[in-house]
Amino acid sequence: MLVLVVNCGSSSLKYQVRELEADADGGTVLTSGVIENIGSSQVEDHTQALELLARRLEDELDGRTVDAAGHRVVHGGERFSAPVLATNEIIRDIERLVPLAPLHNPAAVLGLRAVQRTWPQLPQVCVFDTAFHRTMPEHVWRYAVPEGFYERWGIRRYGFHGTSHDWVTEQAAQFLGVPRERFSCVVAHLGNGASVTAVKDGASYDTSMGYTPLAGLVMGTRTGDLDPSVVTAVLRRDGQMTPERLDDVLNKESGLRAIAGSHDMRAVREAAERGDERAGLALEMAAYRLAKYVGGYHVAVDGAQALVFTAGIGENDAAFRKQVCDRLGALGIRLDDDANAPRSREIRRISAPDSAIEVLVVPTDEEQAIAAATAALVAGGRPGA
Ligand code: ADP
Repeated sequence: MLVLVVNCGSSSLKYQVRELEADADGGTVLTSGVIENIGSSQVEDHTQALELLARRLEDELDGRTVDAAGHRVVHGGERFSAPVLATNEIIRDIERLVPLAPLHNPAAVLGLRAVQRTWPQLPQVCVFDTAFHRTMPEHVWRYAVPEGFYERWGIRRYGFHGTSHDWVTEQAAQFLGVPRERFSCVVAHLGNGASVTAVKDGASYDTSMGYTPLAGLVMGTRTGDLDPSVVTAVLRRDGQMTPERLDDVLNKESGLRAIAGSHDMRAVREAAERGDERAGLALEMAAYRLAKYVGGYHVAVDGAQALVFTAGIGENDAAFRKQVCDRLGALGIRLDDDANAPRSREIRRISAPDSAIEVLVVPTDEEQAIAAATAALVAGGRPGA
């Protein structure tokens, strides 16, 4: 089966075509690419982007055609707890969730409709970033705010990066030979956006992102956790500040960028190694915040069997992993420095034999996870969950 994996942004469309066997885990990549500048004179809208993509695929796939499309959808709200086959009704439901994800869901809807127009018979599957976290218990997903916030506006914790946390949990359980339903771990997904999830008995129990992806860890350009009074104080004190502008500041001009001057971990690390104090401070802040979460989540899941690092920083930055684990001695975590140092695309153990908790590096692959979920649903022909 050929599966087209689509990740639609407001101005870009990333795609991958994967070939899968009937029961495969994600298959191999046949082609991939990105169509940029959607909404410009070059590519007017998502429909035109899809026409462009259809022509590209004709060339790149030597006339073979795709059998299904799998879409990354950021927000599934409380409605979606698993991937679903996209019907018109499902697409309308995703549209209804736009107030929760005004930056992300509109693009997903445009992408779904554009694929529908281009290939009307093609089965489409939606895979939600929030779905994995639907197992969080109520005392975890509630904010202690007046009931109306939740009732009227759906203000609660949702969590994101679920496709990655789910995938990485499965890989780690298999690697350690533990049945997933008896596997508890802490997964740190550290990319430009970063989140950490407490996985209890194979399911999400808690996660650091909340109502939006702004909460939790110190990220490339996002604050992570912040006293909400900071928002009201800045709005009151700065006469020019608007909610929209402040949203931008907290999402795009904060985190590593605000402290160290760059959002890119490689640049921050290089600067710190040259003796740049602000860069050093940014790294300490990010490592400390993550270590605090790991400690808390170890307790939350009644003792994690593993700490798992994934995504750009988690997979590649040995020094950051060490910085975090050095703060976790109280949990009995010990790294094996020789195992931690080398770069690799393989799943691997980096803890010392006497470590109380296994520490693993597990490469994430959200496209592969989306392709696998898409193939499973289409082959099974199951209706929407
Ligand atoms: P995204 O969230 O955009 O998918 P990635 O998972 O690709 O992000 O992670 C991007 C981050 O990973 C950046 O901060 C980048 O600097 C960092 N990164 C990638 N390779 C390395 C490396 N070799 N050492 C340190 N950081 C790295």
